[in-house]
Amino acid sequence: MDSRRYGGNGYGSQSNGGRGYGGGVAPRRRRVRRRLRVGPTLLLVSAVAAMAFFFAFGGFGKGGQPYIYEDEWRAAVELADEGLHYQALTKLGLLLALPEAPPAAFLAEFEAIKAEFYGRGVSEAGMLISQGKFSEANSLALELEEFFPQDPRVANLIFSSSGLVRYSGAIEHIFFHPLMVYAELGWSGIKPVGSQSALDTREQELITVYEFKKILENLYANDFVIIDINMIYSAVFDKDGGVIGVTEKELWLPKGKKPLVISVDDINYYQNKLSLNGWNWKLILDEAGELAAYSKAPDGSEVVSRDNEIVTILDSFVLAHPDFSFNNSKGCLALTGYDGVLGWRIKDPAAANYAEELAGCREVVAKLKENGWTFASHGYAHIDMNKATYEQAVSDTERWLEVVGSVVGPTSVYIYPYGDNVGWNNTNAKLQALQKSGFAMFCGVYNVQPGLWFFNKHNYVFQERRLMGGPMFFPGGRGWVEHMIDVDDVRDPARPSPPR
Ligand SMILES: [Zn+2]
Repeated sequence: MDSRRYGGNGYGSQSNGGRGYGGGVAPRRRRVRRRLRVGPTLLLVSAVAAMAFFFAFGGFGKGGQPYIYEDEWRAAVELADEGLHYQALTKLGLLLALPEAPPAAFLAEFEAIKAEFYGRGVSEAGMLISQGKFSEANSLALELEEFFPQDPRVANLIFSSSGLVRYSGAIEHIFFHPLMVYAELGWSGIKPVGSQSALDTREQELITVYEFKKILENLYANDFVIIDINMIYSAVFDKDGGVIGVTEKELWLPKGKKPLVISVDDINYYQNKLSLNGWNWKLILDEAGELAAYSKAPDGSEVVSRDNEIVTILDSFVLAHPDFSFNNSKGCLALTGYDGVLGWRIKDPAAANYAEELAGCREVVAKLKENGWTFASHGYAHIDMNKATYEQAVSDTERWLEVVGSVVGPTSVYIYPYGDNVGWNNTNAKLQALQKSGFAMFCGVYNVQPGLWFFNKHNYVFQERRLMGGPMFFPGGRGWVEHMIDVDDVRDPARPSPPR
């Protein structure tokens, strides 16, 4: 996979890119005058191309002849320099169709403008969709499609900006734990049990790679579409970052699609559970700069795979099925901080390899965000916030913000450890403390029906979640999920319980 396909990472710095444009200064006659900010890379490429042309050809094209359309070409390139990439590419495309071929350096310039248009355009169209400016986003996506007709990100943008209807039904939220990669480890020592309540924690919480892939196929076939949890609500903060208001957002989705929020709990890769659960060890960037999971197989060999963890499997699935995600939304990763963050050991600044671990973690976080993943607090030490004292709750939250929040960036989502919430109104001091720390959306676990409640008076929103785990394979748990997936189809033949 080419990293450029994920949003122009190679074209100018992130801080100079995505966020900087498209936010309300879009000209009226956009088809004619759309401007994307020119990245420093394009300017550099243009300059280098011009110099290469000058020195290689002495100002002349192949065979010593000047390129007869050089003036027209330069005029078109200027449009790109002004941020009008689509107009530039359209003109250049006409010149390229003529029998007089331009010198090679010109072609490199064309490709550079195309790449810049892709990076900036995909980013801007995604932002326009998130701002509810669907028709503007759609125009831009259709322009992108002319130059990138087979691209899955562009297809996703078109899907997410056309034929939308207001959605007002239930919003399902399902959650997972990291996948069991090595069943010979994860299921080892487990005796099949006949009742849900007798399940070993591993069978209760974990599903296998096989089962996750089956679940995605089932959800997709049943017209679910993944949304970002941040599409449900908007929060207002005071100057110190405390929550002072929460409102429900309008949800607009392609007709016939049902929204689905996904979260992944404890994707920290706790060291004492790596072998026990047959888990991956950490998320990394592979040699191509793409997300992958690193693990050691039971035979001791090192494994780097893009096909054995939730994030990478879902990323690939959405590339193959652009209509399974709204605006490239993926899941929300609920992290603790006491033992690893995505497998990186970043809690102790005094540790010898702290700087390396922190840098590695930041790289992976940046790539996850680029691919549509978001983050939530799952508490620092995975304490039961309901049972915790006020002081414990406050210091746990502060520690999380310090170790994890400083790396993943601001989030207003809090996913309760053990699904145990602190209370339902903001006379609760622990809830107030969490709100003061910037949390507005709280999630629990309740498998029976999807729940979403706006406590506008108390400035927070609460959503229940369904566990995708062992109980759903029992008669008593089947009903929790069978409107979404066919559990018999999903079940891994290697799963011990219930006995067949
Ligand atoms: Zn947890």
